[in-house]
Amino acid sequence: MPTALLPRIRRFAAAASLVCATFASSVAGAATLDFDFIEDTIDTVFSQASFGTSTIDVRFNTAQTLVAPDFVNLTYDAYGGEFRDLPGNSGGRLPATASAALKTIKLYLVDSFVTVSGELSNVLGLGWLGAPGVAVAADRLLGAGYNALTLPIAIAHEIGHNLGLGHLATTADANNLMYPTLPSVTTMARTALTLSQVQTILTSTLLQTDASGSLFLTVQPIYVTAAAVVPPPTPAPVPLPATGLLMIVAIAPIAALRRRRRRATGPARCAA
Ligand SMILES: [Zn+2]
Repeated sequence: MPTALLPRIRRFAAAASLVCATFASSVAGAATLDFDFIEDTIDTVFSQASFGTSTIDVRFNTAQTLVAPDFVNLTYDAYGGEFRDLPGNSGGRLPATASAALKTIKLYLVDSFVTVSGELSNVLGLGWLGAPGVAVAADRLLGAGYNALTLPIAIAHEIGHNLGLGHLATTADANNLMYPTLPSVTTMARTALTLSQVQTILTSTLLQTDASGSLFLTVQPIYVTAAAVVPPPTPAPVPLPATGLLMIVAIAPIAALRRRRRRATGPARCAA
């Protein structure tokens, strides 16, 4: 069962059939993901030879958790569907002057994608085209049929969409990062980017420059889980700052989500 596709959707590019293990509905499971490995692998992709001296350092923030049972198995359609409903993930294009917070790519790790009638099935990842926002079916990508490189490469593919790249789908492009499917045995050979693609990436407004002049990109991983975080059984006499912070992380996105759900479906569509 080889293929994992990254189908492309107009503003949003879906990855059809890509992978993940079952960390899905438990916060504990999320801890098993090795984000250092994932980040290092993606760094390798965006610093390959075709970047010359303009390599991009991909920087992962500490993972957050979003308790949202409805989104653990994410339904998407040509307009984004629930992908668009995820907090802060509307898919809007950003001006170069946008804040660093807005430029941060939210990486949602869900269990799987639910396809509606008429849409591409077997999707492993979704990413806006030219705007920040990625979701991957982590349970599938870490599960049977794929290896350790599949998840990070699937994420790199979707980030490629965020940076403005469409698919290259001819047989000759099978080793390109933007080929729309992933093989069961995924290797770094499958992550090539052409000079032309690198030129496109370097015009992305999502790129930032640090004090030393180096290009970087910020990614915020967010686990989508079904189970609420259980509060400590006995009330702490003095709330710790860290606890307050966690609660904000869990509650604020859901409030945002409720607001979004009342809105009419937006304009995005799938691309070829
Ligand atoms: Zn794709």
